[in-house]
Amino acid sequence: MRMLALAGIVLLGPIAATVANAQGAKLDVQRVAASVYVLHDLDPNDLGSHNTVALIGNDGLLLVNAQEWDEPVLSALKPIADEPVRYVIETQCDSVSLEAPQRAGATIVAHENVRKRFKAGKCFNDKAALPTLTFDSELTLHFDAEVVRLIKLPTGHSDGDVIVYFEKANVVALGDMFDSRYLSGYVKYAGGNMLGLNEQLHKVLALLPEDVKIIPGSGPEGSVNDVRRMSKALDDMRDAIAAQVAKGKTLQQIRDMNLLQPWKDLLLGDVWRSGGPGRGPDYLGAYFACLTGPPDPKFQL
Ligand SMILES: [Zn+2]
Repeated sequence: MRMLALAGIVLLGPIAATVANAQGAKLDVQRVAASVYVLHDLDPNDLGSHNTVALIGNDGLLLVNAQEWDEPVLSALKPIADEPVRYVIETQCDSVSLEAPQRAGATIVAHENVRKRFKAGKCFNDKAALPTLTFDSELTLHFDAEVVRLIKLPTGHSDGDVIVYFEKANVVALGDMFDSRYLSGYVKYAGGNMLGLNEQLHKVLALLPEDVKIIPGSGPEGSVNDVRRMSKALDDMRDAIAAQVAKGKTLQQIRDMNLLQPWKDLLLGDVWRSGGPGRGPDYLGAYFACLTGPPDPKFQL
């Protein structure tokens, strides 16, 4: 591995550096463990931003969720480690796959449902590079002296969600099923299910050690306690809505109750006021649909 000074800073501790590429895209590069880095863009208001995780070592680069940042990610990493990208892991299908490393021979790894969705044109980006290595429930990569465990979650945010656990570094990338600032939601066109998101958070809490560093799909680094807080909020919200469904209330009647008010700080924008469509996911509508009917067949594989 080549470790270079970056604008006068040598990246040897848990410090941040800011890197702008030739196109002016600014990425914040944070070292979270000896060989694990997180890259995220510097616009705090961009709620659609995504974190990319990079494992850097003698074998080259392994990236998680490089997404639309393909060229900027590689530019930002160049001063730290100018190594070829060997693996790109996608933790769900509703992201843009990295095309440049694939052209350079990188292996794109994802759950088999992600490949199926891309092939069937049933996800966000039908021009995305197809995963070339897929798995069903678990896959372990031994790379850069790290043990990288990919574990499929129950269907929730999407039907292809996996977590990527760097066992030695004790760092996990959770992908879009978790955001350290707001409740995450499910993506209908990616085969997601709101009730399954609760199960995903339960599984993550059961699997991971208490002191693991958590890199969400979006937002700053989090802890197991952050996941616990989001999990409890979603469980309480589901139960509150289910109680009204059990009483035979209609969606509109429940919307009129301001039922989501207790979780307003965890919801995007003012969606909590009506629980209706607005800025951010429609949690009330999503739970109501999942509690009262089967998944929409149009979005199933
Ligand atoms: Zn997503």
